Amino acid sequence: MNIVLLGPPGCGKGTQARRIEENHGLKQLSTGDMLRAAVEAGSEIGTQLAEIMNEGQLVPDDIIIGMISERISGPDCAQGFILDGFPRTLVQAEALDAMLEQKGLALRSVISLTVDDDAMVERISGRFTCAACGAGYHDSFKPPRNPGRCDDCGDRTFSRRDDDNAETVRHRLTAYHDMTAPILPYYEGRGILRPVDGMAAIDSVTAEINALVKAA
Ligand code: AMP
Repeated sequence: MNIVLLGPPGCGKGTQARRIEENHGLKQLSTGDMLRAAVEAGSEIGTQLAEIMNEGQLVPDDIIIGMISERISGPDCAQGFILDGFPRTLVQAEALDAMLEQKGLALRSVISLTVDDDAMVERISGRFTCAACGAGYHDSFKPPRNPGRCDDCGDRTFSRRDDDNAETVRHRLTAYHDMTAPILPYYEGRGILRPVDGMAAIDSVTAEINALVKAA
C-alpha cells in the first residue's frame, strides 16, 4: 500500500510518518531527510541545496523527482511506502503518478494534516533533537526532564535544523500555500484525499491516521 502524507511545515508529518512505518510496515520516505543527508555529505550540490533550504524555498522539481523515483524501487519499499514531504508541487504530483503507473503501483490514500500557521511558527522555532538518538524536544512544549540531558539515551548533545527559525518558517509556510496546497484539489478530485486535524493531540492524530490506513 502506498500513501502520501501532506501538510505544512511543523504539522507533525515526520512524527506521524515514523509511527505509520512502525504500525503498518510501510517504508517512510522523507525528501527532507534525503536532502539533509545530501547536505551533510558536503558535496557541491549539497551546498546549493543547503542555500535553497535555508531560505525556505523549494528544491527544483527534477532533483526531487529523480531522488524519489530511485527510492521507491528499493527492496525496502516492497510492502509499500509512505511519502513524507513529497509531492510538494503539481509537477511532482504528476511525475509521481507517471512513475507509479510505470512500476505498476498506485496511490491508495493522501492524508492531509490541517493546522494553523501561527501555531506552526511557534512549534517549529522551538524544536530540537537529541544528536545521538534523534528523540524530539521543544523549548516550551517538551523540554528534556533533566535540562541538557536526553530523556531517552542520556546524551547531552542536541541539534536544531538550520531552517527551523521564525523567518525561514514563514517562507516555508508561504511555499506550502503557494506551491503545495494547490495539489489538494488534484487528489480530492480522485476521491483519495483524507483531511486530518493536525492541531489535535499527537496520539489522537496517530489514532485517526491508523484508522484511515487500515481502511485504505
Ligand atoms: P521538510 O523536512 O519536509 O520540512 O523539508 C525541508 C526542506 O527541504 C523544505 O523546506 C524544502 O526546501 C526541501 N524539500 C523537501 N521536500 C521537498 C520537495 N518535495 N520539493 C521541493 N523541496 C523539498
